[in-house]
Amino acid sequence: MSTEETFPEIREAVRKLCADFPGTYWQALDRERTYPTEFVRALTEAGFLSVLIPEEFGGSGLGLGAATAILEEIHRSGCNGGACHAQMYTMGTVLKHGNAEQKAKYLPGVADGSLRLQAFGVTEPGAGTDTTRIRTFARREGDHYVVSGQKIWISRAEHSDLMVLLCRTTPREECAKSSDGMSVLLVDMREAVGNGLTIRPIRTMLNHATTELFFDDLRVPAENLIGEEGKGFRYILSGMNAERILIASECIGDAKFFIDRASAYARDRNVFGRAIGSNQGVQFPIARAYVQTNAAELVVADAAAKFEAGINCGTEANMAKLVASEASWFAADMCIQTHGGFGFAEEYDVERKFRETRLYQVAPISTNLILSHVATHVLDLPKSF
Ligand SMILES: Cc1cc2nc3c(=O)[nH]c(=O)nc-3n(C[C@H](O)[C@H](O)[C@H](O)COP(=O)(O)OP(=O)(O)OC[C@H]3O[C@@H](n4cnc5c(N)ncnc54)[C@H](O)[C@@H]3O)c2cc1C
Repeated sequence: MSTEETFPEIREAVRKLCADFPGTYWQALDRERTYPTEFVRALTEAGFLSVLIPEEFGGSGLGLGAATAILEEIHRSGCNGGACHAQMYTMGTVLKHGNAEQKAKYLPGVADGSLRLQAFGVTEPGAGTDTTRIRTFARREGDHYVVSGQKIWISRAEHSDLMVLLCRTTPREECAKSSDGMSVLLVDMREAVGNGLTIRPIRTMLNHATTELFFDDLRVPAENLIGEEGKGFRYILSGMNAERILIASECIGDAKFFIDRASAYARDRNVFGRAIGSNQGVQFPIARAYVQTNAAELVVADAAAKFEAGINCGTEANMAKLVASEASWFAADMCIQTHGGFGFAEEYDVERKFRETRLYQVAPISTNLILSHVATHVLDLPKSF
């Protein structure tokens, strides 16, 4: 890519680590829908998942720019950070809004990987994107909250020791604003499963360890409330900018993977007595993907820089996620087309990455909702909902 590479040493180290996890490793997991335990362990031991945690809590405190470089390289190498990217940023809710005791209790363990805090429970079947309509309810009983309800699409729940859970503590109808009355609880999954929490895996078109959660009078100690009761929605929103920028960097990595693979294949594959890449009908989509990816990369870098400078970057984070996910999807489609029939063969990894990168136009936020944000918050167009 033409833009100058940030964090070259980190990138080189990530590439080296990823080389130990080739396509055959991911193909086998994908077939069985199993979790990349060895890959996640290697990333953890190398310290790549704790770069957002300040040094005082055992992380390296390198910041979001380093985190984007790590996830981009993972994806460019053909690996997938979806199994563990949330270990990087979910702790942000505790770091920003937790009390001193909670930070001291949890963050060092998250930093060294002995505690996996990579489940983030927001989405519900009945609410969808309209988070204020969630119904999972935590009622206070003495020094506990008692949680009942249901969540859907909660990824990595079976591979997490802790989960950041958003639930209602006051019914929506009783709140002045619909975004009031929600609270964040830190759920200890090791104690919860079988004692009021049931996890049911959902088989999806990509290997993402995503699940449905059922809460039936799960007791959570009141000391596990993060921040103030009723203010949880704001806490969750504040963490979403980091998440969107990091996911955008994964999309950039995916797009580069597709461009690398398509260029190589187009140079090597001979049909009609010449390399297919000598036909402009094959060249131009690859070149277009490259241009779009470079443009998206600049938007992602701008959002990350604003985030690191402490500037409100809600719009930039959303825009980064939108353009990066569209660049990766265009590149994915281009790469399949360039490969012809081999684009569909498991051993080329293109079809797997194609399925994986499609997710990012729906999760963690869908494209329409980003467009709606830009239309109403930036362009002052009337709200439609
Ligand atoms: C593999 C996977 C992993 C996930 N992991 C997690 C996780 O770990 N934690 C978690 O909390 N959630 C997770 N999610 C949920 C994800 O964030 C949601 O799927 C996503 O935000 C979209 O919400 P929804 O599925 O409820 O779609 P809906 O809200 O039902 O929307 C369906 C479609 O309608 C469109 N739409 C809805 N309303 C409007 C409107 N007013 N105007 C225009 N278009 C509209 C949307 O853009 C979307 O395309 C995951 C999802 C998947 C598929």
